[in-house]
Amino acid sequence: ASGYTLLRNPRHNKGLAFSENERDAHYLRGLLPPALLTQELQEKKLMQILRQYEVPLQRYMAMMDLQERNERLFYKLLIDNVEELLPVVYTPTVGEACQKYGSIFRRPQGLYISLKEKGKILEVLKNWPERNIQVIVVTDGERILGLGDLGCQGMGIPVGKLSLYTALGGLRPSVCLPVTIDVGTNNEKLLNDEFYIGLRHRRATGQEYAELVDEFMTAVKKNYGEKVLIQFEDFANHNAFDLLEKYSPTHLVFNDDIQGTASVVLAGLLAALKLVGGTLADHKFLFLGAGEAGTGIAELIALEISKQTNAPLEETRKRIWLVDSKGLVVSSRKESLQQFKKPWAHDHEPIKGLLDAVKAIKPTVLIGSSGVGKTFTKEVVEAMASINEKPLILALSNPTSQSECTAEEAYTWSEGRAIFASGSPFDPVEYNSNVFVPGQANNAYIFPGFGLGLIISGAIRVHNDLLLAASESLAAQVQQENFDKGLIYPPFSNIRKISANIAAKVAAKAYELGLASRLPRPKDLVAYAESCMYSPVYRNYR
Ligand code: NAP
Ligand code: MN
Repeated sequence: ASGYTLLRNPRHNKGLAFSENERDAHYLRGLLPPALLTQELQEKKLMQILRQYEVPLQRYMAMMDLQERNERLFYKLLIDNVEELLPVVYTPTVGEACQKYGSIFRRPQGLYISLKEKGKILEVLKNWPERNIQVIVVTDGERILGLGDLGCQGMGIPVGKLSLYTALGGLRPSVCLPVTIDVGTNNEKLLNDEFYIGLRHRRATGQEYAELVDEFMTAVKKNYGEKVLIQFEDFANHNAFDLLEKYSPTHLVFNDDIQGTASVVLAGLLAALKLVGGTLADHKFLFLGAGEAGTGIAELIALEISKQTNAPLEETRKRIWLVDSKGLVVSSRKESLQQFKKPWAHDHEPIKGLLDAVKAIKPTVLIGSSGVGKTFTKEVVEAMASINEKPLILALSNPTSQSECTAEEAYTWSEGRAIFASGSPFDPVEYNSNVFVPGQANNAYIFPGFGLGLIISGAIRVHNDLLLAASESLAAQVQQENFDKGLIYPPFSNIRKISANIAAKVAAKAYELGLASRLPRPKDLVAYAESCMYSPVYRNYR
């Protein structure tokens, strides 16, 4: 290939880091200015440029430009500066990027599969330049973060999640495929936007929807085999639970909003026991939000308690209560409840608001998973603090604008007693001359390592025990120095090591359960996981 083409291929381009020899061998002479820069110097330069942008979206766009220009440098930046750049390529900024996706993207990323491609999805998959795919993250854009239906513009999410698969979990970029299924949108603003990039009609539902998704699922298995991991992301809950149930028996499917969230929150709770005391079974849980995240987490908590105490699931579920938009989920509402809420409809008189629910249930743990911001009011936090010496409060909703409360509010209103973590990051808070460092209860701790574990073991199905293994591994990696700051998650700066450990535990469990197809089993799974991880360091082209 010509040097000119090489410079325009993001997978191989090194810019000014091409050596003298490479410039000779690959027809690059004259196409680059004479200076030679190391990758470290390029990184330093780009970080300086990024830090000059004050608007987060500008940083996002600069990172996307870099990904399109020089992939290894993009990942080097992301890996070396993970705490600084995660909020840029992921929540909260990715949310704003999706809202404005149509006007900011230059070159399309990922694969768009719309109703127009019905009957031709296998051909569409073959248009993607890579043959060997190991992970697909797919959305239909109906519930993007807590921002609602963003239609085709949801593509920012699969793209962002997969860059974390590479940076945090070490999957090679070439094996990752972002997909958006476009069946229309019910977002009026987008439908009326002349620059909207997706299908300009209301969402297809029922059979038309199911057939398109089914054609996609069949085509994926046919084209990439049985071991490709399909991660469902940001589907509305009326489809998410059904799709997961429908495809779990035949495909390697994982719903990050239901299962990934569950695993990461359970990890935080297990770790938090070191701070608040007791076993999981000693605690009582109240959720605001009974959707994918809420019921997914609830089920995994109940399962873990059941494993620890040998009590049946029906019993352990009774320690867990959920509030949805209509109030406390109780048995008298059972007839009208969606299927996934039914296990949580316990006997209690109806209660409308969260505050009254807190007062009646007296939870030790309060978890926000409604997607609605500012719902943990002063009264709610004060009630939690009057019931508990150390109230455990998790505000999971993303992005930051949808957070149930801020870190500052949680600490101030609880007089510095709350153990707090949130889905989107908050800065440390000073209260009564103490500094409180809020943790980030975010899926990014789990899904990259979880996916790596599935892939290195050649797992063919996901099982709840694999999620539990991931939770236990993450919880075990919180260090005393983290606890000392009130943290229930380890810092993201060690995330590749954390992911390798999670991957090893998930893989070990997959072998134990007979779900692994990669034989023989590597002896040292941590070392094996690490050896499989992508490195962003430049290659030499001879
Ligand atoms: P979902 O399936 O749509 O569920 C939302 C739930 O919240 C529903 O049960 C809904 O009630 C309830 N709700 C909505 N408005 C409410 C209100 N004003 N008062 C009480 N309940 C209300 O959404 P999801 O997938 O669970 O996601 C929810 C949020 O969690 C999103 O913001 C998402 O970004 C966040 N999340 C965070 C993480 C993380 O890593 N931290 C992971 C996953 C999701 P009805 O059922 O009555 O409609
Ligand atoms: Mn999600």
